[in-house]
Amino acid sequence: MNERLSQALNECPSSLANALLPYLNSDTFHASFSATEVIALQQSSGLSSTELALALLPLAASYAFAPLSDFKVGAIAHGASGRWYLGANMEFITTPLQQTVHAEQSAINHAWISGETRLNQMTVNYTPCGHCRQFMNELNCAEQLLIQLPDTPPRTLPFYLPHAFGPKDLGITHALFDPQIHAMTMHHDPLINAALSAASQSYAPYTHAYSAVALLLDTGQRVTGRYAENAAFNPSLPPLQSALIILRLQGYDPSSITRAVFVEIAGAAISQKSATLATLSALGCHDIETLTFTTNG
Ligand SMILES: [Zn+2]
Repeated sequence: MNERLSQALNECPSSLANALLPYLNSDTFHASFSATEVIALQQSSGLSSTELALALLPLAASYAFAPLSDFKVGAIAHGASGRWYLGANMEFITTPLQQTVHAEQSAINHAWISGETRLNQMTVNYTPCGHCRQFMNELNCAEQLLIQLPDTPPRTLPFYLPHAFGPKDLGITHALFDPQIHAMTMHHDPLINAALSAASQSYAPYTHAYSAVALLLDTGQRVTGRYAENAAFNPSLPPLQSALIILRLQGYDPSSITRAVFVEIAGAAISQKSATLATLSALGCHDIETLTFTTNG
């Protein structure tokens, strides 16, 4: 187990730390707990569901990659399936601050990429910033989403974001986490194919600029990320950040990237290409392929 996970365990109640050990010692632990595992953790730690989620926040925050601020934020997205997805903030030196990922975005993206179709709750160790409140307002569960903070009763997102501006104000009737399938031709190269497959599920109702990133790691593993657009535009999560979140939650650092593929739809009004290339280059990845595609449906 690495040092940051051991440190996180030290911040947990001892009954929970003992129960977490088998998970954290496993190579297959990827920063989430199934519904069954959540119940088992509650039973072995004696904590209620809310107490357990709050007690797991130091573990979530241990995934932070914050070389600029050293400020570690942890979040848990509670999927409708019962699975809990951890997330943490990410910062990238030598890139603009706009490339930063917030913990709530990390946990939500984690759940989205893992196939979750709805969230019930977010548990966070600090009050969500305005950027994250707007990001969460794009979710298909925005009206009902519960926000749980330490020492504060749970409240729904509309409490934290009254008089909200969202997809409906722009005439969009579906939302983030609703199924997205943009049919497109697949490719024989597995990494390119992974990027195309992710792009086919990206969410871009305002620009239709579907895009995704696939990363090959020095372990041979592939991770993908897809674009999640926002009605207020700026809180949109770029496809590279979506992939970097997954990379981090699987226990890797950006330095482990050996090859990257970026794909986006041809002819869209906006492009993620230059920002993606610049950030990948800042992270030390120079083997980058970029492709455009057209939908076949
Ligand atoms: Zn935030």
